[in-house]
Amino acid sequence: LLRNPGETEFHQAVLEVLETLGPVFAERAELADARILERVLEPERQVMFRVPWTDDTGAVQVNRGFRVEFNSALGPFKGGLRFHPSVNLGIIKFLGFEQVFKNALTGLSIGGGKGGSDFDPKGRSDAEVMRFCQSFMTELHRHLGEHTDVPAGDIGVGGREIGFLFGQYRRITNRWEAGVLTGKGLGWGGSQARTEATGYGNVLFTAEMLKTRGEDLDGRQVVVSGSGNVAIYSVEKAQQLGANVVAVSDSAGYVVDDKGIDLALLQQVKEVDRGRISDYADRRGSAARYIEGGSVWDVPCDVALPSATQNELDGDAARTLVRNGVIAVSEGANMPTTHEGIEVLREAGVAFGPGKAANAGGVATSGLEMAQNAARESWTFARAEDRLTEIMQDIHTACFETAERYGAPGDYVLGANISGFERVADAMLAQGVI
Ligand code: NDP
Repeated sequence: LLRNPGETEFHQAVLEVLETLGPVFAERAELADARILERVLEPERQVMFRVPWTDDTGAVQVNRGFRVEFNSALGPFKGGLRFHPSVNLGIIKFLGFEQVFKNALTGLSIGGGKGGSDFDPKGRSDAEVMRFCQSFMTELHRHLGEHTDVPAGDIGVGGREIGFLFGQYRRITNRWEAGVLTGKGLGWGGSQARTEATGYGNVLFTAEMLKTRGEDLDGRQVVVSGSGNVAIYSVEKAQQLGANVVAVSDSAGYVVDDKGIDLALLQQVKEVDRGRISDYADRRGSAARYIEGGSVWDVPCDVALPSATQNELDGDAARTLVRNGVIAVSEGANMPTTHEGIEVLREAGVAFGPGKAANAGGVATSGLEMAQNAARESWTFARAEDRLTEIMQDIHTACFETAERYGAPGDYVLGANISGFERVADAMLAQGVI
C-alpha cells in the first residue's frame, strides 16, 4: 500500500490473489527464498507518456498514455489497450497484474501487460479517433515488437482503433510486422473467431462449471451486463447453447427483453450504428423495456455474466442475484465482482468463474493469431473455434483440479490463482534472479 499509494484497483486485485496463495507458500519454501512474490508484484517496466492531438475544431487536446509491461517470464508482454476517461495507472496495473496469471492459464507462450489512455472515444469522429491513435502509437511503437510486447483491444479499443494503430506502427517502423498487434482485420493478418472469443469463451467456461454439477445452459434465463464486444458474443454463444438472454446494459441503463435479445438488432445498433442500448429498446418495440440507471442485476436470472467493467457487481447486487435463485456467475469483464460480492456468492454456493480463467478466451485466441502470423497461415473459423473450446476446457480442468488438490473443491478463484501463479513462478525460478 505504501509503495503504490492511491492505486485502489491494483490493491484489490493483489489482495484477491494473495489471500489464496497461502497453501502454495506453505508447501514450497523455495518461492519465499527467491522472493518471488515481491518480484511478481513489481512490473518489469511501466511507461507513461503525453498524447497530444488536434480535434475537428482545430483545438489541441492532451491525453495521457500508459503501458505497463508486467511480466515476460512466459513470453512477450501481452494484453489489451483501454481507452476510457476513467483510466489511470492503478487501473492499468490491476489489469496488467491479472493478465499475467490469465495468460499463464492459457498454456500459451505469452507474458502479461496492459495499457491505454484516459482518451474518451465516445462522440469523437473517425478522423479524431485516427489522429489520437496515430499520436498514441508515435510514442508507444518504441516499446513494442512481435517478440517484445503485443497489445490488443479492450474497452474503447476495437477493430477500428487496432487498424489505425497498426497503420501508424507500420508507417513509423517501415515493417509489416503482423504479430505486433492482435485483433487485426481478417484481410490483413487477423484471426477468425478473435472478435467472438472472449464472450464465447466465457459461456463455454460457464457450461463447463455447470457440467460438474450435472446442469447445462439449455432453457436457462441469462443476464449479461454491458453491450460491447464481450457482451454481444456472450449473448450469441449463450443463445446457441439454448439459453434465453433476457437483459443487456450500458453505462446509462439496461434493457429487458422477455422474448430474448434480438442479436442481429443488437449488433446493428452497437457495431454498425455505434448507438446506445436505449436505441435498441426504441427499435425493438413493445417486446423490450428500457430502464434508465438502476442495476441490471435486479433482473431475475439463473446465470449472470458481468461483461462491462470492474466492480459493477457488488455485495447488494450479489444478494439480489442469490435471492432470485442464480446458480452461476461468470466474469466476462475483468474484476467486475467486488470482494464482498464474491463472498456472498461463495457462501450461497453459486458456481463462480473468475475473469482470470473465464475471460481468457480472448487473449488465448490472440495467441492463436500470433501463431498464425508467425507461420503466415490463416485458419478457418471452425479450426480457431475448436482450439478456443479446447483451451477453455483445459483452463477449467486446471482450475477445478487445482482447487481439489488444495482442499477447496469448486473454488475456481483459488484454482485459477494458484494454477496461474505456479506456472509463472516456476518460469521465474528457472530463469534466475532477474
Ligand atoms: P467495449 O468497449 O466493447 O464494451 C464495454 C461495455 O461496458 C459497454 O457496454 C460500456 O457501456 C460498458 N461500460 C464500460 N465502462 C463502464 C462503466 N464504467 N460503467 C458501466 N458500464 C461500462 O469493451 P469490451 O467488451 O471489450 O470489454 C468489457 C470488459 O471485458 C472489460 O472489463 C474488459 O477488460 C474485459 N475483457 C475484454 C476482452 C476483449 O477481448 N475485448 C478480453 C478479456 C476481458 P458504455 O458504452 O455506456 O460505456
